[in-house]
Amino acid sequence: MIDVCLAGTGGMMPLPNRWLTSFWVEYNGKAALVDCGEGTQIALTKHGCKLSKLDAIFITHFHADHISGLSGLLLSIGNTGKTGLLTIYGCNGLARIIKNLCCICPLLPYGIDIVELDSRQYNRIQWNDMIVSTIPLRHGIPCIGYSFKLERKPVFNPQKAEALGVDVRYWRQLHSGESVIVDGREITTDMVTDEARKPIKISYMTDTIAFDAMADFAKDSDLLVCEGMYGDDDALDKSREKGHMVFSQSADIANKSGSKELWLTHYSPAMPEPKMYEKQIKAQFKNAVVSKDGQRKTLG
Ligand SMILES: [Zn+2]
Ligand SMILES: [Zn+2]
Repeated sequence: MIDVCLAGTGGMMPLPNRWLTSFWVEYNGKAALVDCGEGTQIALTKHGCKLSKLDAIFITHFHADHISGLSGLLLSIGNTGKTGLLTIYGCNGLARIIKNLCCICPLLPYGIDIVELDSRQYNRIQWNDMIVSTIPLRHGIPCIGYSFKLERKPVFNPQKAEALGVDVRYWRQLHSGESVIVDGREITTDMVTDEARKPIKISYMTDTIAFDAMADFAKDSDLLVCEGMYGDDDALDKSREKGHMVFSQSADIANKSGSKELWLTHYSPAMPEPKMYEKQIKAQFKNAVVSKDGQRKTLG
């Protein structure tokens, strides 16, 4: 089971009723955060995301609304008593920025590992049993999108094991992938499990203009979190100039990628009521959600 929470949905600056876009991904007792604008530690705490679980932070790019909350978050994580290591991923130049931000939070009880990713190419890394992939986005400065993919083991089927005469004391062994011998015959794990399950995939892309490769990158996502700076198509030119997208472009990518659900985020501060566009966006992509702060879901 993967628990996700969109702790904030704003772009550019936090508002009294809207925190900046940041995305929580929790699996197996560990959590990752994508982006950390001003005040993100408050948004996370408000929405029940336990900072002590944070194991990795993924930064999309170095605009203030995606990284300026990092010092405060690092201090708040320190207050939870975390020890060990926190890994921070981001574009080239991340180490220099973290070093500067850490000038104001020099004494942390845990270590920081910094991993710079080449923002001009696709990358694949492993985090917490998941494959994390990146895509270069188009935003005026280096910017990357992320996807999290969790392969799932087939489910053990007790009826199949019983039918093959496997004693219950060998089930755990089979479940862990080891074969057993029953009456001189080798029984392998695939003989006592159901069919392979599809992986769980979550994609996250902000800030960017729309382009074709985004749909390929998000292909078959169970959840696509995608920016929508403006709800109205009249803002298409304005959003493109600023390196952003309108809701209908995100819905188009959701359709083309075969994603099951779309969460819109990163709203302009000039758009006080994003929900007013929900009906029209659902007409374009049925499972579109005009997200609100604290939007949650469990996948798997
Ligand atoms: Zn932004
Ligand atoms: Zn930006």
